[in-house]
Amino acid sequence: MRYEGPIYRPPSEADSLLIQATVGCPHNKCTFCTIYKNGIRFKIRPVKDIMQDIYSASKTYGLNVKTLFFPAGNTIAMKTDDLAEICIYARKIFPDLERITVYGSSQYIHQKGLSGLKRLADAGLNRVHVGLESGNDDVLRHVQKGVDAKRQIEAGQWVVAAGLELSLYVVLGLGGVVLTDAHADATANALNRINPDFIRLRTFVPKINTQMLDEVESGKFKMLGPHGILEETERLVRQLNVTSYLASDHYTNYINVCGKLPESKEKIIKQIRAEHQFPESHFRPFFIGEQ
Ligand code: SF4
Repeated sequence: MRYEGPIYRPPSEADSLLIQATVGCPHNKCTFCTIYKNGIRFKIRPVKDIMQDIYSASKTYGLNVKTLFFPAGNTIAMKTDDLAEICIYARKIFPDLERITVYGSSQYIHQKGLSGLKRLADAGLNRVHVGLESGNDDVLRHVQKGVDAKRQIEAGQWVVAAGLELSLYVVLGLGGVVLTDAHADATANALNRINPDFIRLRTFVPKINTQMLDEVESGKFKMLGPHGILEETERLVRQLNVTSYLASDHYTNYINVCGKLPESKEKIIKQIRAEHQFPESHFRPFFIGEQ
């Protein structure tokens, strides 16, 4: 088994078998992201090598693997037939496999179309983790996400329509002080129109080797402090009209809120308001992220 580049996986894949199907990220332009900056160029591994690694993992770990995650940054960008082939093979090798998951940005999901996504669901892919980041076009343009809100919404709706589970990531504070309300409002609108299975909140932290860090240090980008982030979170959650599970289990966050919506909405808002009573010095300090 082989692995190149940094290992990056969602917390929910902590117990999963990791088999690398792609290396790096084909976009690699988001101005807040440092994962593959100055790193290895994006490549898709040959299907036969991926299959060899799946087979080899079955000899090392046995056949009782329950969850499989194909890193890295955008495995959904593989050719649909090739991704389908490795999903079918993995299910043949591990008969008790309950879930196969990949990362995928909306721009590559959109290229697959609904029919391509259905083909992947039929092949045994179960879940896609997508960095929505924001539903606001000014924010998406500023961070060079490579996709606008309209395509993000279409891509998300197609994932859901194809029968795949969708986990969407939102970056609180990504619009800074200037765009906080617009970021919260448009993101709530995008989430409402997609209604993903999971909404996962992260908080903007400037990372080393990124344009966003330069903008923070030069004063061009004004970050929200803890109270501003809590206000943005409340504004976002208040507008949600979804049946998603909301989670914010991440070291970047000022508060850990979670629960099924809409049942947990009022509890979450109360929790945010209670935290807002504390002075800003109560929360984690500013730091520069390294990954
Ligand atoms: S955030 Fe995702 S799509 Fe953007 S550069 Fe990083 S890995 Fe690639």
